[in-house]
Amino acid sequence: MSHGRDEIGQRSETVRRANLGAIVRELYARGPLSRSELVRRTGLTRSAIRVLTGQLAAAGLVTEGQAPPLGSPGRPSHLVRLVPGGAVVLALEIAVDSSAAAVVGLDGDVEGWVRRERTVSDDPAERAAGLAALAARALGDRSMDEVVGIAVAVPGVVRRRDGLVSMAPNLGWRDVPFGEMTARALGATVPVAVANEADLAVLAELHRGAARGEADVVLVSGAIGVGGGLVAGGRPLLGAAGYGGELGHMPVRPSGSSCRCGSIGCWETEVGLEAILARGGREPGGGLVALDGMLRDAAAGAPAALAALDETGAWLGIGLAGLVNLLNPRLVVLGGVFETIFPLVAERIDAELDRRVLPAPRALVRVVPAKLGADAPLRGAAELAFEPLLEDPARWFARDRVAPERRSA
Ligand SMILES: [Zn+2]
Repeated sequence: MSHGRDEIGQRSETVRRANLGAIVRELYARGPLSRSELVRRTGLTRSAIRVLTGQLAAAGLVTEGQAPPLGSPGRPSHLVRLVPGGAVVLALEIAVDSSAAAVVGLDGDVEGWVRRERTVSDDPAERAAGLAALAARALGDRSMDEVVGIAVAVPGVVRRRDGLVSMAPNLGWRDVPFGEMTARALGATVPVAVANEADLAVLAELHRGAARGEADVVLVSGAIGVGGGLVAGGRPLLGAAGYGGELGHMPVRPSGSSCRCGSIGCWETEVGLEAILARGGREPGGGLVALDGMLRDAAAGAPAALAALDETGAWLGIGLAGLVNLLNPRLVVLGGVFETIFPLVAERIDAELDRRVLPAPRALVRVVPAKLGADAPLRGAAELAFEPLLEDPARWFARDRVAPERRSA
């Protein structure tokens, strides 16, 4: 019956598209690979790889060239690489005191990067309009139509499914449908993904930074708030609705200080920037300038600054000990202000881990500073924005040859 044949046809089409996705994902994660390497990594046959890379090349996503001889016997294999500008995404960031937009290519290279310090208003619609203006500048000569994915980093708790920012205390937002608002402001032809900035920083450090190639990672990023991201078995741990990974609100001190979230003694109240400054006798609200002053004092051997940093290291170690016992990561990556103070707290963190973590997971874990610095959330937004392409590259074939009106028909 033709019904059965249709079903088989559909199934093989699904398999073909998944295989295309597997190839693009390998190239995206590892850079150029020979056809033999693709065979080994995807488990596909040599002839399947030849046919599928041919289709990707026809779509302008990959190029193929002769691999340089490696001195090994056998036929030379074709080297397959992604075309850097073959597909681009729009990465956006809302931070407390700035907004940013970048156009990023398949090789992770940034084509356009615009940041505006200080913002006039925290009104969500105005912030979305501000992003649209920055996006237009970042896009330059490219049109919004060429963008295969869009993602926004926000300093808040986000429901991934629909981009609802359920809470962003530092912006004063509650239940803001920021994905929709941004899509409207941009006139976007693709959905806009929204995610927590720290989760995205993890993604970036994982793909292109300190945790590249690691599958089990805890990333903790410090500013006024403390955020984080957890990766287990190569996948982000986000919880049932994407609210997970709020490391800053892990209770560590039952009789501690009040937290912005309404609870008491959250980790953030001991290791957040305000806590570090208070311990060092600095003005609250002094920000990174005050922290720099404290670090200069510490470098000059001032006992008060050194003691404040040592105590911060202890509280960092206490929280991390719980996480390492719970998750057994190979790597802990410390970003934001923790990256800045890392050389002055590393020893104390290690001492706390030695004392508090079970021997087996302790032996496996390393604590390192982040690599991407303040760019990590925007970089991570680019990674998230590429997901739809990596999932199903065939969806984007022939995209720029079809007018947008026809495409939606
Ligand atoms: Zn809290």
